[in-house]
Amino acid sequence: MRIAYPAARTIVEHAAAQSPCEACGLLAGKGGLISLTLPVANSAAMPEQAFALAPDEHLRRLKQIDERGLDWLGVYHSHPTTPPIPSQADRSGAADSSLLQLIVSLAYPKPRLKLWRVDGLTALPLELDFADAPSIDEADELTRRQQMGMLAAGALSLLALLVIAIGLLPPVP
Ligand SMILES: [Zn+2]
Repeated sequence: MRIAYPAARTIVEHAAAQSPCEACGLLAGKGGLISLTLPVANSAAMPEQAFALAPDEHLRRLKQIDERGLDWLGVYHSHPTTPPIPSQADRSGAADSSLLQLIVSLAYPKPRLKLWRVDGLTALPLELDFADAPSIDEADELTRRQQMGMLAAGALSLLALLVIAIGLLPPVP
């Protein structure tokens, strides 16, 4: 399996933002490429030790995946202080063995991502490579649009300043 770099970055940023609680979300893409990751709120009773995808948000995210013409490939969650290995609860909680399980661990100086296929109580590690394939990253698109807006606003205010400056110039004798 491969994961687009921006999609991996979304997971790491989400995990860091939620720490010391576990972060969770969905993996989407086509075939062997995870191109989009979508955060979902963790509704577990003890989010420091476990995760549960908040049902309403989970459904909303599934709809978004469908609307983009992508497939739901799996689930990701974070381990703020432990290695990226499925816990007992992770194994028994993974109902559908066709879904991939990605765990990001923040227990090391650099975040570690590990992909698993959990079948019953067996967890099988899978290869995961980074791909520079274009990813439809909502956050990225939003940032780009905001930057464009700020540039336009900046250009406009510069123009206004120039007009004021010209107005302030002493009249030519
Ligand atoms: Zn876990």
